[in-house]
Amino acid sequence: MKHTLSQRTINRLTQYHTILREYSKKDIENITSAQISSFLKIDETQVRKDLKSINCKGKCKVGYVVSELKNIIEDVLDYKTTKKAFVIGAGNLGIALSKYSKFSEFGLEILGLFDINEAKIGKKFDNKEIYHLSTLKNKIEETGANIAILTIPNKVAQEVADEIIKAGIKYIWNFAPSILTVPDDVKVWNENLIGSFLQFCAISDIK
Ligand code: ATP
Repeated sequence: MKHTLSQRTINRLTQYHTILREYSKKDIENITSAQISSFLKIDETQVRKDLKSINCKGKCKVGYVVSELKNIIEDVLDYKTTKKAFVIGAGNLGIALSKYSKFSEFGLEILGLFDINEAKIGKKFDNKEIYHLSTLKNKIEETGANIAILTIPNKVAQEVADEIIKAGIKYIWNFAPSILTVPDDVKVWNENLIGSFLQFCAISDIK
């Protein structure tokens, strides 16, 4: 899925969506840009600009229709198309991610996990089985999944990335704190958990 929105805009849209879900649950019909901006402590003009960029126009004083705005964000960010993924590395993080049921509401379906530790192969978590990494190619062909969520130790991240790309993976959501080298037709998103924590420390006053 490709669109011209910046990463920051996408991030803010997901936050607006979270607020809209809460409004929707409470059966509130309208929301203003001022309300959204005060929840998120951001500038109201930024909210209006973001919503204009996805063709949402609010009405003076009334604001936006919650259900419409929520649907438009879901369409623009493609929440409703299911994307199939496998977790590579069935350690604590991999298992936690594979058990996180909220992903399915946003279009991510985790079909199973892969590992090389024989003691883990065949175990199941929430009906998701751990398979041996050597069978990944077959599973990709069987299911059509092309996303890998990498939760393996840093020291093996590049070699495992090479192996899964050979097996047919095209998109890697990388949780290993490692910079991967991949061919041009493979896309990587580095989930920099440590970087996020340090950014958080930098803007906070944590003692
Ligand atoms: P564990 O439960 O084994 O202690 P952990 O939660 O401490 O794991 P890591 O040591 O980061 O986390 O390992 C994550 C998982 O990655 C483990 O299940 C490990 O067996 C798996 N793993 C390690 N090397 C590879 C590899 N080359 N290919 C696939 N999986 C691997």
